[in-house]
Amino acid sequence: MTTRRIVDLLRHGQPDETVTIQGWVRTKREQKEFTFVEINDGSSMSGLQAILNQDLPGYAEAVRKLNTGASVAIDGVLVPSPGKGQRIELQATSVTVYGEADAETYPLQKKRHSFEFLRDIAHLRARTNTIGAVFRVRNACSTAIHQFFQERGFLWVHTPIISANDCEGAGELFTITTMDLKQVPKTDAGEIDYSQDFFGRRAFLTVSGQLEAEIMAMAFSNVYTFGPTFRAENSNTSRHLAEFWMVEPEMAFCDLVGNMDLAEAFLKHIFRYVLEHCPEDMEFFNQRIDNSVLATANNIINNEFERITYTDAIGMLEKADRKFEFPVSWGLDLQSEHERYLAEELFKKPVIVTDYPAQIKAFYMRLSDDEKTVRAMDILAPKIGEIVGGSQREERLDVLQRRIQQLGLPEEDLWWYLDLRRFGTVPHAGFGLGFERVVQFMTGMTNIRDVIPFPRTPLNAEF
Ligand code: ATP
Ligand code: MN
Repeated sequence: MTTRRIVDLLRHGQPDETVTIQGWVRTKREQKEFTFVEINDGSSMSGLQAILNQDLPGYAEAVRKLNTGASVAIDGVLVPSPGKGQRIELQATSVTVYGEADAETYPLQKKRHSFEFLRDIAHLRARTNTIGAVFRVRNACSTAIHQFFQERGFLWVHTPIISANDCEGAGELFTITTMDLKQVPKTDAGEIDYSQDFFGRRAFLTVSGQLEAEIMAMAFSNVYTFGPTFRAENSNTSRHLAEFWMVEPEMAFCDLVGNMDLAEAFLKHIFRYVLEHCPEDMEFFNQRIDNSVLATANNIINNEFERITYTDAIGMLEKADRKFEFPVSWGLDLQSEHERYLAEELFKKPVIVTDYPAQIKAFYMRLSDDEKTVRAMDILAPKIGEIVGGSQREERLDVLQRRIQQLGLPEEDLWWYLDLRRFGTVPHAGFGLGFERVVQFMTGMTNIRDVIPFPRTPLNAEF
């Protein structure tokens, strides 16, 4: 007999079907002549209720062993369920217990646990309703992302995790080394001699795959990356991880408007896909985590995003009838409170802010004719703030070189990036989407640590 997934049985199972299920016990309710056990195999939020009658061979032992958390295979026959909230249940004909879970020491008891507590038992938390739903939605988001790009002919390119460029100059890099830290080789000048390190130079964990994606776009036209990135930001916020996943499309023959159009269609597609494929999980988030989750999703799908320039945004913030903690003035970056004011209070939907001052944006963004602003765009989402950051890239060799010099970046390290402007340069654009921020936005989960299976944050790398 082949094992059936519980989600499949709940949707399509018919009375009198003989089936086997395998999973973990969520609850056990002993009655006089029989026992109810709810089994969950992770395929859906709801489990399947199995009924063990006392005439079942080995009944007493099975019931004793089937505590919450125990793993089990159950053969049986599907029957219509008289109970509320379920169409069918499983009349067990044989039970095999793989592994018991001690009722006294199993950490996941029936009561509600705090997310903080669950983070300390990340090896078990995926068995809870909320975290289980998060990871199913996370999976659906990944599938939606690949589907969106694959349908449009984008090539998925794998950019390196180990990188030697610190081009963003963000200064939040993890150095990787095989040097003996007790005896680090030094140069005559007393500096660390990275020429003796594994790569013969200093190397880092990547903070973004963009520059490599640009290389690939100059051959395949439309590409995207989807992989982990790393930032040693020592900020303990609910929106930052030291290891997070990013999606970075890069398009040749594309300008900022094309970039915005794609980003908007992309976000809409992800929301539509998840609503269609995870209705039960999304309903759960709406009921138990944040009662605006479904309305927000529909709002995203059905409305055009607002598009404003940075200069307009500054004007709106200056006119706002409230005090901000951080100053607002042309030339300063938007802080999270400003971003949230625009998306959450003023427009009540995602807002795309474009044309930021050149001095607060990266060197590769295309300089506008005013020489003051660059063709950058950020998408700001209610409750989350920045969810997408992107730009049209500077395709003109001389302008790019000028920007690199102004910012004091090492031009010699960027020789290959500049070569792309020497040989067959084209207008091109792209953006980066923080994957966990999307999952947060989708589910209403307030802490980013609860939407990635094994969060990496300052002082925390367990599991
Ligand atoms: P923020 O201002 O929120 O720190 P950023 O300007 O550093 O963001 P980018 O460098 O533009 O972000 O990175 C692209 C996207 O990656 C961001 O829009 C955001 O969604 C996401 N992101 C950035 N840093 C993190 C992080 N530490 N953890 C999770 N997601 C992140
Ligand atoms: Mn940042």
